[in-house]
Amino acid sequence: MPSLPVLVLNSGSSSIKFSVYEAENGERRKLHEGAVDGIGTDQGSFWIKDADGNKLVDQTPALPNRSVAFRLVADALHSGDFPAPAAIGHRVVCGGPTVQENQIITPALIDEIERYTDFAPLHTPIAVYIMREALRLFPGIPNFAILDTYFHRTMPEVVTHMPIREEYSAMGVRRYGYHGISYESIVYQLEPNVPEKLIVAHLGNGASISAIRNGKCLDTSMGLTPTGGIISGTRTGDIDPGVLLFILRKIAETEPSATAAADKLETAVSKKAGLLGVSGLSNDMRDLREAIKGGNAKARLAVDKFTWTIAKWIGSYVAELGGLDMLVFTGGIGENDIASRAEICAGLGTLGILVDAARNNVRGEATISAAGSPVTVRVIPPAEDLMIVNHVVRLLG
Ligand code: ADP
Repeated sequence: MPSLPVLVLNSGSSSIKFSVYEAENGERRKLHEGAVDGIGTDQGSFWIKDADGNKLVDQTPALPNRSVAFRLVADALHSGDFPAPAAIGHRVVCGGPTVQENQIITPALIDEIERYTDFAPLHTPIAVYIMREALRLFPGIPNFAILDTYFHRTMPEVVTHMPIREEYSAMGVRRYGYHGISYESIVYQLEPNVPEKLIVAHLGNGASISAIRNGKCLDTSMGLTPTGGIISGTRTGDIDPGVLLFILRKIAETEPSATAAADKLETAVSKKAGLLGVSGLSNDMRDLREAIKGGNAKARLAVDKFTWTIAKWIGSYVAELGGLDMLVFTGGIGENDIASRAEICAGLGTLGILVDAARNNVRGEATISAAGSPVTVRVIPPAEDLMIVNHVVRLLG
């Protein structure tokens, strides 16, 4: 196969991140990466770096909307200063029940993904917008949807099925799981020595955890939506459904529109809860650690809730896997927050998870388990863009 520049697009609520890889046979080389950040502000940022980290573009444009932001990326990649992409891979959080395979993007596929916006309401509208724009602004170039839900398609029905009436299951209500591209990338980095019984904790602003047997997903904490599972930056994670009903009834006392009430409930559980909700301070682990140093009890409670929930989930996955060979931490907190890793593992010695304090005193890739620990504990940064490129190359055949 000739050398092929592949553009990877990963869009969030206020940013569009991208990278360009050169793919040639089995080789992958990152050429550039960049981001447009601060969408919706007068002074955003737009930068592109080469593989050595040299900034080739460094601007502070007004970014009134996503259209202006994406146009900056498209214009830069059409300018001749950078290799024009031969294919584009889009990170798509949720394919819903009908789109389970990574595949080429057509207008009909985008419509189908959009039908299930309610399953990832904070992510899907953005991905749908960018996919439509990419077809328009990069005509004639194949675009591929690479799904976070793809990795989780191997979960058994007993895991995916929700305990609700069939009419809702028939509408596609089930456990999908998210962060799948990150999990796949951890398995990929462990190859060819993927342990039989593996737990990966992806702890970022959104956080989830997966039980993986022989490289295939057995169970994962996020459910129908990324709001389920473990407590994360601004999301509740799993919660007694009665709490949702209570909040909804409180909202309904002053909000007569059912749709507006549902939106307010969504804000309450997805944007204002989690570490932010409990601490009343921040969704950012660095802020919470600082506040704890200053004796802030609510920050302490938020972080304790986070680490306690994850430890509990690890225990249940050890039971589900019938033991454990390796535990991997990834994501911004998993890679960088030494204290979170120590606190999560502190009570897990009986499960064979023994972390060495000195080895744990690192940021980034490392083995942190103690000598003789029955379970190997590692920190591995995710390689999501590389994984997307791999899928694109495979799909290009
Ligand atoms: P996202 O889910 O948005 O991709 P990330 O994976 O970037 O999030 O993780 C963001 C989280 O990682 C934040 O809570 C942030 O505080 C935390 N984090 C990043 N760097 C550090 C650090 N050096 N120490 C502690 N936490 C960190």
